[in-house]
Amino acid sequence: MPNFVFVHGKLKLMKLEKYSFGIGDRFGQQGNAQLSAVMEAAARGIEIVPVWNKSNREHQNIHSSPADTRREADEAVKKLQWKQHYYVDADHINLDTVDPFLKHSNFFTLDVAGFLGREVPDAEMQKFLEIASGYTGQLQIPGISEPFQVSGEALKEIVRNFLGAVREAASIYQYITSTKEAGRFVAEISMDEVENPQTPTELFFILLMINHFDIPVQTIAPKFTGRFNKGVDYVGDVVQFRKEFEEDLLVIDHAVRSFGLPENLKLSVHSGSDKFTIYPIMGELVRKHNKGIHVKTAGTTWLEEVIGLALSGNEALQMAKTIYARAYQRREELCAPYATVIDIDPDALPEPASVRQWNGEKFANTLRHVPDHPDYHPGFRQLIHVGYKVAAEMGDAFIDMVRKHHEVVGEQVKTNLYERHIRLLFGI
Ligand SMILES: [Zn+2]
Repeated sequence: MPNFVFVHGKLKLMKLEKYSFGIGDRFGQQGNAQLSAVMEAAARGIEIVPVWNKSNREHQNIHSSPADTRREADEAVKKLQWKQHYYVDADHINLDTVDPFLKHSNFFTLDVAGFLGREVPDAEMQKFLEIASGYTGQLQIPGISEPFQVSGEALKEIVRNFLGAVREAASIYQYITSTKEAGRFVAEISMDEVENPQTPTELFFILLMINHFDIPVQTIAPKFTGRFNKGVDYVGDVVQFRKEFEEDLLVIDHAVRSFGLPENLKLSVHSGSDKFTIYPIMGELVRKHNKGIHVKTAGTTWLEEVIGLALSGNEALQMAKTIYARAYQRREELCAPYATVIDIDPDALPEPASVRQWNGEKFANTLRHVPDHPDYHPGFRQLIHVGYKVAAEMGDAFIDMVRKHHEVVGEQVKTNLYERHIRLLFGI
């Protein structure tokens, strides 16, 4: 039986646990390895629930379907006898893409990044402005020493930027509830895939809008300050990040208390894998304020598969090299959809001809994210990260190879998730 959370004293929701990890993986092969990392954490007293997430874009690139993700999750849970809850996340969906997920998912990430700045009928805008204008001037959030200064003009700007997007989230939410009872899924709102980070002040008003449109979200994924590049460490002002992350937590706490949003509402960190510099900060702050956190780490699991192949030698190592060589040839095409979340210096990439001379260890050490290892190469890693399309085009040849070497591969996946992610974040 799921736990429940009440909203406004009545609407009962399936309650997402305090700590959750977005695990999923491109090719749907690593459910057991990922779940075993979560179980390792449970054995050390840190309870995390797994969320198998996969976006529509990934499904299209891999030619997989939401039913496959559901199957992967169910099979792993059964095989390893996981007794706690688990979720299957329709990641980054909107009204155009949600349909195929409805039957298989119990977690929906309503992505409204594409709706920022969307116009709203004037009467609706005025109605919200009336409510929100009560918070202009000095906005004091308990726990934050300096009040936020919100002028009438600044408020209008925030409303122009975000009201249309939150209104869209409401439409998606209502659409989902037309087929699924509200008590049978968890909703997240994401607006991380945008140009500018949202400030804690903006987050406050976004939450007010979410409440206004009556969307009982349990996690929210803003864009944080700094760069969250795929598969590599955080790049940005760590002091500023700490300050804003803590303010975000306090804003959420305040919004929960004063608006009546779900009590377990928490931050969701997208592109959350490999952010080694800020894990200890996030971990410390959520513990300090007794808040939950959701971290999406799914995308890099496939890199561990490539590392596992490289370490398996012979034809598996050859395949890893071929994947790199093809990704190298098609760099521009593969990088284009990820322009805002990768940073590759093409001149610094090793030539495929020299990579062909490498042994498995050298290849693995170049790819594996151990920042102080002399062979580690962030450009090489990011290129292979976006190169999963190349492996997808190999079809069964790739999947069969991963399955053949599942022991070595699975060990990489588990170690990566547990040792480099969970332990750092939760300080165990
Ligand atoms: Zn995202």
